Amino acid sequence: MVKKPCINRQRLAETFMSLVRIDSPSKEEGAVAQWISRNFQAIKGCSASFDNSAESTGSQCGNLIIHVDGDIEAPPLFFNAHMDTVEPGRGIVPLFDGTVFRTDGTTVLGSDDKAAIAILFEVIRCLREQQVSHGPIDIVLTVCEEIGLLGAKSLDTSMFRARAGYALDTTDPDMLINRAPEAVRLSIEVTGRAAHAGINPEEGINAIQVAAKALASIRLGRIDHETTANIGTIHGGKATNIVPDKVCVEGEVRSHNSAMLRKVQDSITGTFITAAEEYRAGISSDSQPEHQGTPEPPFVQTEVLHDYPAMSVPADHHLIVAAMKAAEEAGRKLRVETTGGGSDANILNSKGLDTLILGIGMQNVHTTSEFILMEDMVRTAELVSGIITTWCSDR
Ligand SMILES: [Zn+2]
Repeated sequence: MVKKPCINRQRLAETFMSLVRIDSPSKEEGAVAQWISRNFQAIKGCSASFDNSAESTGSQCGNLIIHVDGDIEAPPLFFNAHMDTVEPGRGIVPLFDGTVFRTDGTTVLGSDDKAAIAILFEVIRCLREQQVSHGPIDIVLTVCEEIGLLGAKSLDTSMFRARAGYALDTTDPDMLINRAPEAVRLSIEVTGRAAHAGINPEEGINAIQVAAKALASIRLGRIDHETTANIGTIHGGKATNIVPDKVCVEGEVRSHNSAMLRKVQDSITGTFITAAEEYRAGISSDSQPEHQGTPEPPFVQTEVLHDYPAMSVPADHHLIVAAMKAAEEAGRKLRVETTGGGSDANILNSKGLDTLILGIGMQNVHTTSEFILMEDMVRTAELVSGIITTWCSDR
């Protein structure tokens, strides 16, 4: 029988509240990283180091890697969380009534993702106190997750041992996520020609109208069971008496199917280009002034930014088997699901690190009504320690 550690609720609550009281908006993770590094190094057999990603992320510090020594031979296992929080996230005052953690309503709580870090602290402390045997564990804490997964993208994976692990960064504590889509961001700029709307409108080309024609005919929303598309912002025009010469439209496409993603992306950008061409074809050429070197308006410039790759961990992967088994031993059942969102796990998987996403109980994240139940943090901590012992005893 494997010895199971008992979670110290009060200590878990105190760790969590200490973490959220330290401001750490993206790029400003320095203080919280120092706190985490110092407190992990105070635990026997734990060492901490930073990678050199700060240069490329622009953060105050690198990603933080904690090595937790094992006392038995087993494949190393990692746990990942991110140290940054979204705005409004400065001067967070956590309120705890014994059941639930909330804020005073002026900021986010930061349980995304500091609840995960608090849980990992508690699990490692318990393993040590109860002298539970386990293999090597790496804790990989990234910066700048919330502003484009920047820390994960620049993570130095040679600084830790494990090549498989769990990202503690989703809501439902009974949920495991093994599939997430690839995503691209689109930026489409339509250029027309400015003119006075009342004096010489004939000389103008209305960029908003060209964009509107394209927008009206593209398909958005759920394209198929694994693909979505959205146009999220539109900016253009200067005043009601000026024919607008520029409009910029931004959107995204996500899919679990790479070929389908390209198809939808090309169809959206292609529709704008066609709308401009049709408009141009409709203008008699003698009304167009000569411009050397620049294309005749209206014309379209598109930019496609690859946001993150898809991830898919097979259902029979040992990460899933170990988590299911650990849950079962705790009298629980986990659901394995697909998400429509992207996270550090997409990047870790693309770097050859098999990563499954585990729910931690955080709710209403990215809002000032964010909250988390103590009970969900405790259940996640119990599951994580169960996973560690299962991972080691089964191999
Ligand atoms: Zn998160």
